[in-house]
Amino acid sequence: MRFRLGVISACLASGALAAGAFTLSAQPQPDSSIRIHAAAVVDGTGRVVRNATVVVRGSKIASIDAGSSGTATYELGTLTVMPGMMDVHDHIGWHFGKTGRLDNDGETPVQQMLYGVENAYVTLMAGFTTIQSPGAPSDVDLRDAIARGTIPGPRILTSIRQFNENSGTPEQIRQKVRQVKKEGADLVKIFASASIRDGGKQTMTDAQIQAACSEAKAQGLRTLVHAHSVESARASVNAGCTQIEHGVLLDAATLKLMADKGVYFDPNVGVVLQNYLANKPKFLGIGNYNEEGFKYMERGIELNKAMIRQAVNTPGLKMPIGTDAVAGAHGHNADELVARVQMGGQKPMDAIISATSLAAQSMNLGDTIGTLAPGKEADLIAVDGDPTTDITAVKRVVFVMKGGKVYKHVAASNGHATHSGIEN
Ligand SMILES: [Zn+2]
Repeated sequence: MRFRLGVISACLASGALAAGAFTLSAQPQPDSSIRIHAAAVVDGTGRVVRNATVVVRGSKIASIDAGSSGTATYELGTLTVMPGMMDVHDHIGWHFGKTGRLDNDGETPVQQMLYGVENAYVTLMAGFTTIQSPGAPSDVDLRDAIARGTIPGPRILTSIRQFNENSGTPEQIRQKVRQVKKEGADLVKIFASASIRDGGKQTMTDAQIQAACSEAKAQGLRTLVHAHSVESARASVNAGCTQIEHGVLLDAATLKLMADKGVYFDPNVGVVLQNYLANKPKFLGIGNYNEEGFKYMERGIELNKAMIRQAVNTPGLKMPIGTDAVAGAHGHNADELVARVQMGGQKPMDAIISATSLAAQSMNLGDTIGTLAPGKEADLIAVDGDPTTDITAVKRVVFVMKGGKVYKHVAASNGHATHSGIEN
């Protein structure tokens, strides 16, 4: 561990750092543990520990101690420490390339991969330490490269490919699910309905959905189902699929059905459609990104407002945070939490849980990440403000640690960077 003391001194000399706002102290501890002290530690389960020190040893959390011993490696002052956030639906490789648009004709696989590396970096800097991609073949190399521990990026889970109504007979779909498992997929992704740009109607037959989800289950894989319409979501729930994505057109009865069956619901209401509209010229004219498609998406934002309120008010419905981040949206993932609260009326703490412990649970990773507790991987971030009262604080990520390694460390009060990159 080393600090850029020169830069910090410059900040202090200019008076940019208010007293107590953000100070660094102490050298690494003799036992090589890292001690992170802050005004509040939000543990990801709904609990807040005030004035606490998170002790990290190696890649794991050793303890969370009340108070400050005065020997913090990182004295984070008034900041709030919380688990690294997770995005359960993120297309990490999508990018605008040298044409400035989504269609990047002539791009080499290496060039494509470097955009993926960039996306991974900005996603981690935004406080997202784990993402799930549903999914592209290039995810595998990116996942494995980041897991080697040198390239900064979130942990990645991927479906590698996606199945739809053209994926063959039920038996052929079963075979393809077994194949993707062999290729190293962490989950299975299917399209049970059309895109919202094409109206969102059910596309796969009930038998195809049944084949995909039951074979995935037999292979020990979860299933993420793209489903906008009521019929497609119901068919998926009945087929034993484990998670429904999007759901723009879902009604109260279908939301209740998912809650009753324990099926996760990942509504994407705060990032993806807004990003398409903001970057319309970069998509328009490619595939179904036509004027009619954009009309559907504008309408989708309005439908989402009603749907998310209904979903938030559905007792027992488990909704991890997923953005469906595509080109243009990487690094803006935290807008999904803000939308949950501001558009959906979700309590800020529930939005935080949705992005941490619940998201981890939805990916079968609840034993290792998603909460701050002894024995868990040290994936933690610090945000400027109290996200339990002001959810927009999750957009002000000033410190990122993943697996015990510090990747970002920025002064909170003025946004003045003291360090951003790998620290140790
Ligand atoms: Zn998607």
